Amino acid sequence: MFPWEKNVRKVVPYTPGEQPNVTGMVKLNTNENPYPPAPGVEKVLKGMDTDALRLYPDPTAGALVHELAAYYGLQDGQVFVGVGSDDVLAMSFMTFFNSGKPILFPDITYSFYDVWADMLRIPYRTCPLDEDFRVRTEDYLTENGGIVLANPNAPTGVELPLDEVERIIAGNPESIVIVDEAYVDFGGHSAMNLIGKYDNLLVVQTFSKSRSLAGMRIGFACGSTALIRFLNDVKYSFNSYTMDRTAILTGVEAVRDEAYFRNTCRMLIETREWAKKELSALGFSYGDSRTNFIFATHAHIPAKTLFEGLRARHIYVRYWDKPRISNYLRITVGTREEMEKLFKAVKEIGGDLNL
Ligand code: PMP
Repeated sequence: MFPWEKNVRKVVPYTPGEQPNVTGMVKLNTNENPYPPAPGVEKVLKGMDTDALRLYPDPTAGALVHELAAYYGLQDGQVFVGVGSDDVLAMSFMTFFNSGKPILFPDITYSFYDVWADMLRIPYRTCPLDEDFRVRTEDYLTENGGIVLANPNAPTGVELPLDEVERIIAGNPESIVIVDEAYVDFGGHSAMNLIGKYDNLLVVQTFSKSRSLAGMRIGFACGSTALIRFLNDVKYSFNSYTMDRTAILTGVEAVRDEAYFRNTCRMLIETREWAKKELSALGFSYGDSRTNFIFATHAHIPAKTLFEGLRARHIYVRYWDKPRISNYLRITVGTREEMEKLFKAVKEIGGDLNL
């Protein structure tokens, strides 16, 4: 131990999904979109004035904030943007969870929430999902220092109906309720329309999944002007220029191309529904995913065996050796061809085990 070590902030970091780079690999492990971003994104990048990179970007990322506000029928002062929704969520934890009372989130959910809580020394309590991985609304109608719900949830893919989400928001006027809608565009129901009704609701979304821009790092939060003001105060006390020029420009283009966005989401949902049937035929079961992934368990082959067998074939899915979910795989929905490669590999692994 170094003499200075007792003064260091020690944290157990979040483990992001692997980012392998093998030719011919099938990457279904971090819920990226298999389709490219909207064509306008390539156009602005090609036409970019590199001389402008000498200058700092707009600290308010005003063009992107305005585009998003117009898209969701909000005022500019109701939108906050950040470097992926991870950045937006971390800022939100720092801003809104400061009471000393435990914040609440499900036992099985996005595994970054407890990491931020630990790092920021926010006490938290996890509420167990039911047997079918559903959120139990009553668990959140008790005293707390804030609430975070991924909806649809990750890694389960299961959605809490919007009227239940509203019951949680309405039942907690003294807390901020963050609804993390990273996957909502794949058939979920957004709480965006409740923003006018509840000043304690923050809806967080991302460009990483439905808008095919994981590499650009764009996320955003929408809420009452009061919430967004508090969030900006913290952001400007941390780093004024979070959004770089390319992120602002490409983000605007991605929002503008509504037709492209709708079409890629539709194709993905079609592949997901087809993949569910194929997975059933292969012996898997899963919940009703409203996301771009399927959280599946096999009747005979242990998830870990499948994960390792697939990995050896350069097919990457996500596996957690954690209580309640250690026999599940989270499989991102790719293209039909990618899914077919996955199914073929599963059959081979089953064959090797004489199943
Ligand atoms: N929330 C959830 C539930 C997620 O699964 C992810 C993706 N890992 C994120 C937020 C963060 O995504 P990003 O930072 O790329 O916007």
